[in-house]
Amino acid sequence: MHRTTTSPRKRRLTCAETAKLVRQALRAEFPETRFSVRSKTYSGGASIDVRYVDGPTSYGVEAVLSLYRGAEFDGMVDLKTYRDSILTTDDGAELVHFGADFLFAQRDISEHWQRQLEAEVCEFAGGERFEPNVHYPVSCFVDHERGGAGLARDDHRGEYGSALVLQLSTRRDRSKPCQHGSSTYGVGNGWNRCKGCGMRTRRRIEATS
Ligand SMILES: [Zn+2]
Repeated sequence: MHRTTTSPRKRRLTCAETAKLVRQALRAEFPETRFSVRSKTYSGGASIDVRYVDGPTSYGVEAVLSLYRGAEFDGMVDLKTYRDSILTTDDGAELVHFGADFLFAQRDISEHWQRQLEAEVCEFAGGERFEPNVHYPVSCFVDHERGGAGLARDDHRGEYGSALVLQLSTRRDRSKPCQHGSSTYGVGNGWNRCKGCGMRTRRRIEATS
């Protein structure tokens, strides 16, 4: 894949050429998500802005973008260092310098999904309607093992409604229909929701015997 190295024999890609590669890579990785990829050049540098709605988590997108970064920035010492990469294509491998120093991704949340997440928080916390500025005795937890996120009762800390919605969305992948492979969490009245997509899935099996 891409390896940092230095050599005089290399091809310098423009920012637009790099953006084209980024677009291809995102399409290959997340075929069901539409990305806006825009290159921007200014005096002293160039960057690429990626925007999309719902889709994969920003961690997933960052993992792709990090391969196309033409520079590293160390904020501790305020230093920008350039790096070269090995670009592997069907024609073989070549040494390149990608034309964008920095790549930024912004994930927007659709109105539809926003309302779903609000309903999920409201259902779990109880109450007539979702209130973004109300501090609920609830926190968002991440399922590191099986992916996704859920809500849990938290009387000590709690979170604002808007923060809970943001935290749920941040940890959930919407790039493809959920296969409900994630585990579920209880939301009250015997119902469960999928940690992967938040869908109300099934009533928990009550211990009857
Ligand atoms: Zn699901």
